[in-house]
Amino acid sequence: MVIKVAINGYGTIGKRVADAVAAQTDMEIIGVTKTRPSFGCDLAVRKGYPLYCTYDSEEKISAFADAGYVCHGGLSGLLELADVVIDCSPGKVGADNKKKYQQAGVKWIFQGGEKHAMTGMSYTSCANHHENMNAEGTRVVSCNTTGLSRTLMPLYNHCGSLKVECTMIRRAADPGDSKKGPINAIKPVLKVPSHHGPDVKTVKPEIEINSMAVAVPTTIMHVHVIIATLPEGHGLTTESILSMWRDTPRVVLMNGAETGITTTAEVMEFARDIGRTWGDLHEIFVWDDGVKLEGNTLYYFQAIHQESDVIPENVDAIRALMGAEQDWRKSVAKTDAGIAASLGL
Ligand code: NAD
Repeated sequence: MVIKVAINGYGTIGKRVADAVAAQTDMEIIGVTKTRPSFGCDLAVRKGYPLYCTYDSEEKISAFADAGYVCHGGLSGLLELADVVIDCSPGKVGADNKKKYQQAGVKWIFQGGEKHAMTGMSYTSCANHHENMNAEGTRVVSCNTTGLSRTLMPLYNHCGSLKVECTMIRRAADPGDSKKGPINAIKPVLKVPSHHGPDVKTVKPEIEINSMAVAVPTTIMHVHVIIATLPEGHGLTTESILSMWRDTPRVVLMNGAETGITTTAEVMEFARDIGRTWGDLHEIFVWDDGVKLEGNTLYYFQAIHQESDVIPENVDAIRALMGAEQDWRKSVAKTDAGIAASLGL
């Protein structure tokens, strides 16, 4: 069976998820929505994704035709055809959309801008794929929480317990966003602890974690400064932790001194060289010369490409909800191979 997937909200995340889904052999995009005719519609048309209006109002739908786009109808019509809808709307409009999905009887996946309390389930491939099997809906956690889960889960699986303090150095805005800041300031997030660390508990409640966050004037990547306390008798060394992460899907390790990749600017240049669309980096980037285990305390940095680490996770989440693949590692391998093949990589 080919899973029919709708994208509600064809923006930064929505356009990327659409391509990742279209790259899979077991799923297809049956339509994407835009709120109004704008430049993003051209991309959907070029990719061959049927275009729908986010709303059912005849006036809003006909505005697409007036601007020269073929619009196949409103959200309700799209939901009638779908098995699962990926909601990529901006955060905090999800509760209204969820009612529509439930009325239409389709499965739903929200993004990290929505609260766990609204969805009741959250998802990261490496942490809780199995718990999400056949669920009605879920929320793919934020880019930061996804990044924390990727490197902390293998440590937790080895140690059986983990206490973590981390600082999120956050990009101020996405590259395509002209409305947010700061542009010449460093802005501490005064809600302490920040939501990022505790959000890991929505996918792995056993990890004890807190975080603080600071927004800085850059549009490319977040950096995490992480200090993890391992339990007595952990039996790990810095080298064995590096080797554990080398075996972890969607984590990439590089030596800053040897490669010359010492800042997020070079990480992004490296990502552009790989050849994924938009210069995306789905993997979490860890500098291996910035990792040190001293006794029970592990110190490390990691960089997160905010617009793209969650993209393959959405594909895996579809397989979990549809009961299509029980083994998260098999789903991850299939997702990543599909994306690579679609790009000829
Ligand atoms: P975006 O603003 O780039 O795109 C959102 C799209 O949804 C736009 O096309 C907008 O027109 C459309 N939209 C507006 N209202 C809508 C509604 N009521 N229903 C459906 N669609 C609507 O936002 P984004 O950056 O793609 O973020 C989408 C979600 O992904 C948010 O929850 C965000 O927190 C999360 N997320 C974003 C990033 C990132 O770096 N951009 C990373 C991880 C997660």
